[in-house]
Amino acid sequence: MSQFAVICPRCRAELVIPARRLLAHVEQLDAGSGEAVFTCLWCHRTGVTTVDGEALAAVREAGVTTLALASQRNRGRTSSR
Ligand SMILES: [Zn+2]
Repeated sequence: MSQFAVICPRCRAELVIPARRLLAHVEQLDAGSGEAVFTCLWCHRTGVTTVDGEALAAVREAGVTTLALASQRNRGRTSSR
């Protein structure tokens, strides 16, 4: 299973989060960049981290729900298992 190391912007805790627990906000699918939303294990707040193309591909591969924000194609939720 893919895991992602992120740093909480609020409490600066270093977290390793399974890809399935991430919620990816994809701003531009073609550009391959986006943001991943996660819940901090320590302060239980929602944090946002920027993900690049490689990480984003891994996120999508893991079946993480992706939301297209600025895309004209509004897919909404993709099916995830
Ligand atoms: Zn935190």
